[in-house]
Amino acid sequence: MAVGSDTARTAVTPGWTGGPQWVVLDHITEQGVTPMTVSFLLTPEQEQLKAAARGFAREQLRDLASATRAEPDPRTRALLLRPAFENAVAAGFLKGLIPAPFGGGADSGVDAAIFLEEWAAEMPDFVISMAGPLIALAPVYQVGTPEQVERFVRPFLADSGAPLAAMAFSEPEGSANFDADGAGQGTRTTAVGDGDAWVINGRKAWASHLCGWDGDGPDVMTIVCRTPGGISLIVAEREHLAGHIEVEEYYDLPGLKGCLTTRVRLVDVRVPRGNLLGEEGQGVELTRAAFFPSGASIGIFAAAAMRQAFDIAYRFALTEKRGGPVPIIEYQAVSDVLADAKGKIEAVRLLAWRALDAVMSMHPSGPEFALHSKIFGSETGIQVVNDLVRIVGVTAYDEKHPIIRHLMDALSYPIIEGSNAGVRRRQLQALFRAPGYDPLAASGMA
Ligand SMILES: Cc1cc2nc3c(=O)[nH]c(=O)nc-3n(C[C@H](O)[C@H](O)[C@H](O)COP(=O)(O)OP(=O)(O)OC[C@H]3O[C@@H](n4cnc5c(N)ncnc54)[C@H](O)[C@@H]3O)c2cc1C
Repeated sequence: MAVGSDTARTAVTPGWTGGPQWVVLDHITEQGVTPMTVSFLLTPEQEQLKAAARGFAREQLRDLASATRAEPDPRTRALLLRPAFENAVAAGFLKGLIPAPFGGGADSGVDAAIFLEEWAAEMPDFVISMAGPLIALAPVYQVGTPEQVERFVRPFLADSGAPLAAMAFSEPEGSANFDADGAGQGTRTTAVGDGDAWVINGRKAWASHLCGWDGDGPDVMTIVCRTPGGISLIVAEREHLAGHIEVEEYYDLPGLKGCLTTRVRLVDVRVPRGNLLGEEGQGVELTRAAFFPSGASIGIFAAAAMRQAFDIAYRFALTEKRGGPVPIIEYQAVSDVLADAKGKIEAVRLLAWRALDAVMSMHPSGPEFALHSKIFGSETGIQVVNDLVRIVGVTAYDEKHPIIRHLMDALSYPIIEGSNAGVRRRQLQALFRAPGYDPLAASGMA
């Protein structure tokens, strides 16, 4: 297990059927995580980070979000993101997604949450398009050899261009049961050994940028596939993908309009044997673990949608009388909705901070908190945004009204990054059913 530290070790997360391979970094002692002062006040550095992220988002993403929504063709509108993507890379934001032990700047979950919320408030689809390395490189950090780490991470440490990574997990026939083993079940994409290469064939769907900017694939594609030894992960690089990807369909999403999501066929993608991550058959546990950081971040995406919708509904309530004698905030029914919404926004944001902190510090509570942030955050997000739409009333039911797009984005959060029903609640069930599971352990209150 290569994590750039001799003191890395493996922690057992009870009941985590995705495998207990949760890497604990060197600041974690045999007695537990080195205690840190708990404070929910932003440090001066975090205030600076927030200002920089907000400045970038308002300058680069606000108008882009409107232009993207106005473009009817899914491929054309996704390509509109590229100049801002290049600017974000040049400003060091992509490097900020790579963990510090691997040469990037990511070393704090709360910092990540602050930055993600500021960008997601303006354009969550931009963040999702850019955040491919968060998922696709996670197994590389976990089991990659030093040579693999160097080769696969390198493109994302650059400060120019628009490098892309895709986690090619989902398939058109279904993904929730990707580990099923019966005939015609589970992962269908195959990798067959041929001399010193794997030859990969199959169909993949949904993952952002499967086809890359130009149809020849992303810089790095981590492919979940079936080898003779079981479900395995193999990394294909752009040189292996070019000319071997057929786009069958560009999905036209109702929200997250700038995401380039497609259904593709991989045809005879020839990859060196040395691009297998870990061992054959290790793909199930590695895939599940890869989706923790992104799952934890869904609470932040939900908080961003709720915060924007709250701002719109609150201003409406303060200023609109709707033909009556007083602004509608004077009615208890309206104020109650705002009160409940505000409490839920704060709760989801704090939960997501906790989850990202646990995940990024590789704490054993990471999986459980990531799942709560994903499930509770996404479902609260839809409920709150929907309630806020009802405050605005019929005026909101217009494509041009700014609130409705937040509902369309929020609708995606329970079903992306592993649906709550098919994937995430089942993972919580596995935790609960594990011998020795202690409900107080994750919070540290055991
Ligand atoms: C913008 C966007 C970005 C995405 N990014 C990626 C990405 O980077 N990589 C990637 O691989 N995918 C990506 N996806 C796909 C996404 O992660 C999905 O969550 C994933 O494909 C799983 O979907 P699903 O759980 O609905 O699975 P499906 O297999 O399609 O299941 C459909 C439904 O059937 C039910 N179901 C199936 N099996 C069970 C079961 N055993 N128990 C209970 N219910 C069950 C559930 O209701 C489930 O929602 C993306 C999608 C979008 C829209």
